Amino acid sequence: MKKLSELINECKELAFDLSYTRAKQWKEEKPGRAIVGYMPIYFPREIAHAAGALPVAIFGGGDRKQIIKGDAYYQSYICHIPRSIIELALDGHFKSFDGFVFPSICDVIRNLSGIFRQLNIGSFIKYLDFPQNFSKDIGGVFYKQEMEHIIHYLTSITKKEVTAEALNHSIDLYNKNREMIDFIYKIRQDFPWRLNMEDVYYIVRAGTVIPVEEHNKLLEQVCYHIKENIGTPQDKVKVVVSGAFCEQPAVGLIKAIEEAGCYVVDDDYQLGSRMIIGNIDAQSSDPLMALSMGFIKQSQYSSSIYDVSNPKEYRLAKIVKDRGADGVIFASASFCDPSLLDAPIFQNAFNKMGIRYIAFQYSENINQYKVIKEQVGAFSDSIKLWEDEPATVQVTNK
Ligand code: SF4
Repeated sequence: MKKLSELINECKELAFDLSYTRAKQWKEEKPGRAIVGYMPIYFPREIAHAAGALPVAIFGGGDRKQIIKGDAYYQSYICHIPRSIIELALDGHFKSFDGFVFPSICDVIRNLSGIFRQLNIGSFIKYLDFPQNFSKDIGGVFYKQEMEHIIHYLTSITKKEVTAEALNHSIDLYNKNREMIDFIYKIRQDFPWRLNMEDVYYIVRAGTVIPVEEHNKLLEQVCYHIKENIGTPQDKVKVVVSGAFCEQPAVGLIKAIEEAGCYVVDDDYQLGSRMIIGNIDAQSSDPLMALSMGFIKQSQYSSSIYDVSNPKEYRLAKIVKDRGADGVIFASASFCDPSLLDAPIFQNAFNKMGIRYIAFQYSENINQYKVIKEQVGAFSDSIKLWEDEPATVQVTNK
């Protein structure tokens, strides 16, 4: 058993290795293996695993990659992540990748898939549409066909047959992965001082670039350590961060929020790793349909899902209530349409429900957080000052 600090350092290195060293090693260890890169926010990694491929998340270069060529591909008034992904691609960071999946979230990601196609990067490019109809016979079947399409691409490289048994095994591994990440969040809900948000971020993100079997071993050890009563409680308020599901804030900003007096007890950073709530049936005779229904019935609220019958503002309010949070921080990447279009919906509802919030925008490469830190600090102080008069949180969908 490794020490917690060793595990965190290991995860930190893995999480921000823009050379994707572990993925490349894994591929070279055995002939017939493949790497599939996927963009935020969600990709059913189980299908890649069952097809003998390693799914690797591509979150952009953050504040670790200078953009020189990437700016030429996009106009100035869009978010930053596609430019840094292009920069990574042009500089050969994805040379070992066999194909790419661009999950449907916005026009920017759709256009990025077209640029990859034009640049001939990878042997396949798949734009993955998510179902927006939630009945099994329509949305369920559609999504299953989308997954079959990706499996076809992958197996033409790996030459591996994807059986129901292999898919169920992969589903089981990812169920365990999600369970342990959930456990970490449950511990943080009650004892957020045991593991700070920066460390949680490294731990979850490491899992997006290494085999799930290895990540599960890391998580088992982390879960063991945080059952102990470690760390010292501090006088901080509890908040939920929402809106940062695609372009990721720099770690310095994630850290600054907690340093400014907040414990982040839930968030949507790297939402894909926590997109499915609960376990997916791992014993089905039709595991692709099980995955499909997992997405349809068990997805977290998200800007990528048309949720007219299950509005996201009530779902976020429920998270706030269940986590015992004092407020919400809406953190959106600059020019992120999905996040910024959702923000007024959340904020109007929260004004009525009496849930406190603040909002700011960031870019993945900003490294000056003074203004945001002051804003978050003032938010935290205002909650403490008026904590005797808590806002009424009613989360009923009326
Ligand atoms: S940050 Fe927002 S606008 Fe940019 S690619 Fe991601 S979802 Fe689309």
